[in-house]
Amino acid sequence: MAKITLSNLRHSYYPNPKVPEDYALKEIDLTWDDGGAYALLGPSGCGKTTLLNIISGLLTPSEGRILFDDADVTALPPDQRNIAQVFQFPVIYDTMTVYDNLAFPLRNRGVDEATVTRRVNEIAEMLEVDDMLKRRAAGLSPDNKQKLSMGRGLVRDDVNVVMFDEPLTVIDPHLKWKLRSKLKELHQRVRATMIYVTHDQTEAMTFADQVVVMQDGEIVQIGTPVELFDRPTHTFVGHFIGSPGMNILPCKVRGDQAFFNGQQVLLEGPTNGEGGIVEIGIRPEYVKIGVGDIEAQISKIADVGHHFVVEARVGNTKIKAIVIGEAPEQGATVTLGFRQNQTRLYRDGWIASQAAGVGA
Ligand code: ADP
Ligand code: MG
Repeated sequence: MAKITLSNLRHSYYPNPKVPEDYALKEIDLTWDDGGAYALLGPSGCGKTTLLNIISGLLTPSEGRILFDDADVTALPPDQRNIAQVFQFPVIYDTMTVYDNLAFPLRNRGVDEATVTRRVNEIAEMLEVDDMLKRRAAGLSPDNKQKLSMGRGLVRDDVNVVMFDEPLTVIDPHLKWKLRSKLKELHQRVRATMIYVTHDQTEAMTFADQVVVMQDGEIVQIGTPVELFDRPTHTFVGHFIGSPGMNILPCKVRGDQAFFNGQQVLLEGPTNGEGGIVEIGIRPEYVKIGVGDIEAQISKIADVGHHFVVEARVGNTKIKAIVIGEAPEQGATVTLGFRQNQTRLYRDGWIASQAAGVGA
């Protein structure tokens, strides 16, 4: 195992990159601690696979270095990096049995047969494919093929890191939940550094202790699932995480006072900086209906099981609220209030309000 450091990484798929848009990865500085469970979360095209392929050595970055502990591995090919990578689609040998598929990464490295048997059985049991060890991989269901592919990534215990690139894409929805919790359990047993790549916030939040959120080739925030939910440092994170995401509302600011639709809204604390585009960020969980003094019309109500997602309009701005209990009526005129200690200010996308009691 090792700590992995990415230092001043940039990558472009073009031969002569000039403008920032030419870069699939803009400027990445990041350390993955030994033994951590990480998720790399971001929308399709933000650079997740590019980053993984640079760590595994399938791709050489245009600029920057990769260190495993203190050793510079930037120039090393994949087979000298001791990394296991699980891809979006199963990579297995169809003509081999399940057992031989799992044994392959070990035999390939000259591991003795007694150890091979022990490890294969362990992993097969964890992934619940132990009753199909003698079957040919070709006959497996897509779910079991992907489990086998994951098993091939997990079977070695000498790897620096195991990386999963959207591994549940091909898995049936009802099995996804099960495999996800399985992976979490596996991390606790195997204790290898794991990087789980996904565009799905639920997958990221359930698997990882630390979530790295990416947008357009850049890291926007690194934090625990709770930190990302509580205090998004960027409106992108606020909007991307949560169901529904954070309300981002246009506002005006004078001094430390914020005004939405001409009315003052109390922020959590003092603000930083000045100028720029300012917005209020408030999660639907903290928008209350029937309190406060912002007049709004109820425009939509969705029953999502244990609560309602209510959409209200203030002029042209839509505000979502989560309501537990009785929902208001469609079309009704109501008042809205924002819970003050959850009302954030963003300036040019970045958080610009301080939590109450923090700072000067
Ligand atoms: P993600 O895995 O987050 O969906 P990728 O790392 O695959 O994103 O892609 C990041 C960006 O790089 C995208 O704009 C994508 O179109 C581009 N890209 C990816 N692979 C290549 C390639 N082989 N050649 C040119 N552009 C690529
Ligand atoms: Mg990808």
